[in-house]
Amino acid sequence: MAELDRRQDRSPVPSAFEYATAPESREIVRLEERYGLFVGGDWVEPRSGEFQPTISPATEERLAEVAYAGAEDVDLAVGAARDAFENGWSGLRANERAKYLFRIARILQERSREFAVLESLDGGKPIRESRDVDLPLAAAHFFYYAGWADKLEYAFPNRKPRPVGVAGQVIPWNFPLLMLSWKIAPALAAGNTVVLKPAETTPLTALLFCDVLRQAELPPGVVNIVTGDGRAGAELVKHPGVDKVAFTGSTEVGKAIQKAVAGSSKKLTLELGGKAANIIFDDAPLDGAVEGIVNGIYFNQGHVCCAGSRLFVQESIYEATIAKLKRRMTTLRVGDPLDKNTDIGAINSQQQLEKIKELVAIGEEEGAEIYQPPCRLPEKGWWFAPTVFTNVAQSYRIAQEEIFGPVLSVLTFRTPDEAIEKANNTPYGLSAGVWTEKGSRILSMAQRLRAGVIWANTYNRFDPTSPFGGYKESGFGREGGLHGLGPYLEFDE
Ligand code: NDP
Repeated sequence: MAELDRRQDRSPVPSAFEYATAPESREIVRLEERYGLFVGGDWVEPRSGEFQPTISPATEERLAEVAYAGAEDVDLAVGAARDAFENGWSGLRANERAKYLFRIARILQERSREFAVLESLDGGKPIRESRDVDLPLAAAHFFYYAGWADKLEYAFPNRKPRPVGVAGQVIPWNFPLLMLSWKIAPALAAGNTVVLKPAETTPLTALLFCDVLRQAELPPGVVNIVTGDGRAGAELVKHPGVDKVAFTGSTEVGKAIQKAVAGSSKKLTLELGGKAANIIFDDAPLDGAVEGIVNGIYFNQGHVCCAGSRLFVQESIYEATIAKLKRRMTTLRVGDPLDKNTDIGAINSQQQLEKIKELVAIGEEEGAEIYQPPCRLPEKGWWFAPTVFTNVAQSYRIAQEEIFGPVLSVLTFRTPDEAIEKANNTPYGLSAGVWTEKGSRILSMAQRLRAGVIWANTYNRFDPTSPFGGYKESGFGREGGLHGLGPYLEFDE
């Protein structure tokens, strides 16, 4: 372990909390040396012939090799999905479809520890989060949409819903299994079949999920998983056999996908980046708000599209808030994702770490004041200490761009109008947080904030019944809730 050079804060900090390590065993996970593609219910060798390693970001250990799909592989997967759609799945009684979804949900619950450990190994997120957030929510999505599968006519009365066809889905690396469930559960509930491409750096839980599909005896070809990099994603979204594209990831790739599908009859939903405002009023319960700030930006290393990465503090409580926040930051434990004490795990990839470092350096050059609590980072792997920037101007790049790391930019405001104006001064519009004891203020802020999701006196809470999605450059379409079914259906009106 190497001591990092840290800028020392002058506010009093608690003496270091020492804990014995509490590592979760990885014995429960059985890794194959090499994974093929999951097409038509079988493991197949990639026609591309290409395999690449997937690496643990905490240790740089090579975990397994995974296939990198090429155009021909994507074509085969789309063909298998089409075949399954036309020869069984779309005509299956809806309550039978529901049974498969319920089964998948139950199996995910039964195998949740195995999935949680694998998610933390491959992606670097703390086991506490994969165990307590990702896995329960992934199962909950399958349960929730299982419930809708045979009630679509009631969900959309007088509109005669029918499935769209083959869904091509591309997901990112920040919540690998959870994003898979956000995509696959509504698609199947609505009677579609799926080809899904996981992110390059986090393919392993999607591959383990194929085992769940077999255990649930889902008919072959209903779900196909093609691993690979952005090339496979690009092949998938442009494939003429795909009827509906769903993407979560960067705004840049989202724009490229929108161009690729323009002029076709494909339906499209995009869930892209964000630069959310977390707004603290002077009547907010401050200790709770500080927990919300920490959860808002340091949850999942800040690799969260709806992270509360811009903190707006009312001027009168600025000093007290920052002092409490810095103090709280000194208690955050950064390190082994499999240690149950860990609050902040590894940065997902070296490339992402470089991006975070670059933007942090820009923040310092621009004149913002940086604080990082004293902490030791492991020597191997990719790590970044929790960071807060004060003295930030709205024009700074760290206040404008998605850093996608554990880095918070703090700004101030005096009046609600000023808070709204500053919060909405962003090309994004995914989420926001409001902390105040006044219900009327929450409602008036929620009406004026241009964001798809607004949390009041809490942050980063997710529920399958609640729609999630953005405005402006954060994308369009909603996932979750009834809204999440709409994009997977056609209506005979
Ligand atoms: P990307 O948007 O590149 O990746 C998301 C998914 O899209 C991955 O599966 C990726 O494959 C795939 N993909 C890449 N290029 C294409 C393409 N042309 N057509 C179709 N699919 C494609 O995110 P990055 O991993 O590159 O991260 C870059 C930045 O994006 C981050 O720093 C962060 O700011 C933001 N981001 C935002 C997310 C969000 O939820 N809003 C999630 C992830 C990132 P592959 O993994 O192989 O590149």
